[in-house]
Amino acid sequence: MCICINCKYVDRCITYHNVETNHGVEHISDLPDIEAKNPRIHVSLIEDHNGDHSIEWDVRSCDSFQEELGKWSSMRPGIKLPA
Ligand code: SF4
Repeated sequence: MCICINCKYVDRCITYHNVETNHGVEHISDLPDIEAKNPRIHVSLIEDHNGDHSIEWDVRSCDSFQEELGKWSSMRPGIKLPA
């Protein structure tokens, strides 16, 4: 799971914006203005039951991380968390 969902900066972060772009999902912010320091992104190839493949991009650590539990969910109430 991407640590960004519980980060204070998820709605301002350029790195998270890029992760959303790679996942092809809607952006939480159209104008991110913070550059994360040393984000380390785990990229994995996922195969589903049909044999189709997709790529997961998860930030696993980041020097700019500031914990704010539920930050992503507070921006998207009622929406399922990104995988
Ligand atoms: S953990 Fe780092 S990459 Fe993720 S939203 Fe926070 S500052 Fe951005």
